[in-house]
Amino acid sequence: MRVVQKIFFLLISLNGFSQSKTLPSLDQFVGYYSVGVKPNKPFFRSRWYLKEDRLFIIYDSDIDRELEPYENGILKPTIFLSEEEVKVTDTDSTYYLVLNFEHDKLQSFRVIRPRKEWSTDLYGYRNDRLNELAIDTEQELTESSKTTHFEFAYSKSDSALVPNVALRLEESFKVLTKDFQLDDFPVTSIKIYPDIKTYHNAVLTPGAPKWQMGRAWDENEIRMLSTIVASEIREEEVDLYEMIMHEFIHCIHLSKLSNTQRAPGWLWEGIATYKGCCQWTDNPFQLDYMKNGNYPSLKQIEKDRTAQLKYDLGYYIITSIEEKYGWDAVLDLIKTNGDIKRSLNVSVKQFQKEFYAYLEEKYK
Ligand SMILES: [Zn+2]
Repeated sequence: MRVVQKIFFLLISLNGFSQSKTLPSLDQFVGYYSVGVKPNKPFFRSRWYLKEDRLFIIYDSDIDRELEPYENGILKPTIFLSEEEVKVTDTDSTYYLVLNFEHDKLQSFRVIRPRKEWSTDLYGYRNDRLNELAIDTEQELTESSKTTHFEFAYSKSDSALVPNVALRLEESFKVLTKDFQLDDFPVTSIKIYPDIKTYHNAVLTPGAPKWQMGRAWDENEIRMLSTIVASEIREEEVDLYEMIMHEFIHCIHLSKLSNTQRAPGWLWEGIATYKGCCQWTDNPFQLDYMKNGNYPSLKQIEKDRTAQLKYDLGYYIITSIEEKYGWDAVLDLIKTNGDIKRSLNVSVKQFQKEFYAYLEEKYK
C-alpha cells in the first residue's frame, strides 16, 4: 500500500515540475544538507527552515540568511532548476543557485560563487535522517537584553542569570580592550539555548557528544547551552560568566584571523583558558603523562585525537610565554598564527625545552 502511494505521489510531482512548470513551494526547500566545496565530498552542514512562512538558510559560522527564490511568481534570475541554463562568466560577481528537486523535495543544490572571490563552489545534498531537525532553533529564545558590548537571547529558564553576568562581562570588556587592543569591537551576540538537542541543532551538529556545549560561532556571536543544563550534564557547577568569557576570547581571537586561517590548538585554547576561563589543573604534574615524563611536543598537542592536550597544556604554554617574553609576544603569536620562530625568535625545539624546564621548575 505504502509503495503504491509513494509511486503515485512521485508521478504527480514529476509531472508537475516538468510539464506545467509548477514551482516548488517553500516547504519543499526545507531540510538539512551536507555541504562541501567539491561534488560529493561534504564536510559541513546547512539547515534550511521556515520561520513565519519565510525561508531561511544557515551555513556553518554564518548568519541566518533569508532566501526568497521567487519574484512576481517566477524564479529569480539567479536561481535555476537545471545546471545547463546557467551561463557564468569569469568576471561575474553574482552568486547563482542551482536547485535539483526530486520526489517533491529539494534533493541537492549547487551555489556557484564568483570566481574573483572563491575558487570553489558549494555542493549540498539532502540528509533525510535530519529532516525533522530542519527547524528554527531560535524559537524558544524569547527573552533578550542588551548592554553596551553584548546582546543576549535566551529562554525564560535562563533569564535570572543574565543581568548580573552582563554587568561582569562589561567590566571584563574594559580589561580585554587593553589586553587585546580592541578598538571599536562590535557588539557580541550571545545565544543561550535551553536544551542540548536545540543547541547542537543551532550549531549544525545534531547528535554531537554532550561535552560540546558552547562555541564562538563567528567573531561576533557565541552560541551555547544553558549553564543550568550544562551543570546537570557535567554534574558540577558550570558558571555562565566563565563559559561566556572562554568563548568571548575565541571571538576576539577570530576577529584577528583571516577567513581561511585556523589557529593551532595550543594557542587557540591556551589564550581562551588563560584570559577567559579556566585553568584545567592547578598543577600540570597532576596529569599522568606529565608525571611519567612524557612531555608532548607542540606537534603532538596539535595532532592529539582526544583534543584534550590543548586544554591541559595551552594555559601553561601561554603563561610561560608571557612570563619570559611578555604579553606583546603573545599578541604577536596571534598575528603570526603561532609561528614560534618568527614571534619568539627561537626554534620550536628550543621553545619546547624551555617550556618544560619552566614547568619543572615552577610546579614539580
Ligand atoms: Zn575553547
